[in-house]
Amino acid sequence: MATFEIYTYSPEETMDLAERLGEKLLPGDVLTLEGDLGAGKTTFTKGLGRGLGVKRTINSPTFTMIKEYQGRLPFYHMDVYRLEESEEDLGFDEYFSGEGVTVVEWAHFIEEYLPTQRLDIVINSINESKRLFKLEASSSRYEEVCKEIIG
Ligand code: ADP
Ligand code: MG
Repeated sequence: MATFEIYTYSPEETMDLAERLGEKLLPGDVLTLEGDLGAGKTTFTKGLGRGLGVKRTINSPTFTMIKEYQGRLPFYHMDVYRLEESEEDLGFDEYFSGEGVTVVEWAHFIEEYLPTQRLDIVINSINESKRLFKLEASSSRYEEVCKEIIG
């Protein structure tokens, strides 16, 4: 597993980073996002949507758990915070193994359902506007993608 680190200094910079990533994603890709409330998981997801060509506004799916968008690929945005330890299976595999791209906020709550090949992203708040992104690639392709966007 290869790990990459990058800092961003504004929400715009975070969205730009995510947009570059979104442009490189392929059908069946799965990304996880971890980080405290306000770290920037949803902000990052908005950038991913941009990179995937989603025109609709992406908002936090906290109360619906899963929101679906259409860009150049289907884009599934999950926020499984409310599942906590209930370990309920909402048919996750249909999303993960489908033709779309899935991003999961608070993914550790559904750890057992996650595919092994994925890109794990952990966000740390350093201060009000500075964030540290750690990208952990579990396959050589994700590793290549990280190299291309972070360099
Ligand atoms: P989460 O989904 O992790 O709870 P959000 O993306 O909803 O977080 O909120 C992140 C908040 O932090 C937003 O208010 C955003 O404007 C702010 N912010 C400040 N600096 C950054 C940064 N570098 N990257 C992302 N968000 C940032
Ligand atoms: Mg969020």
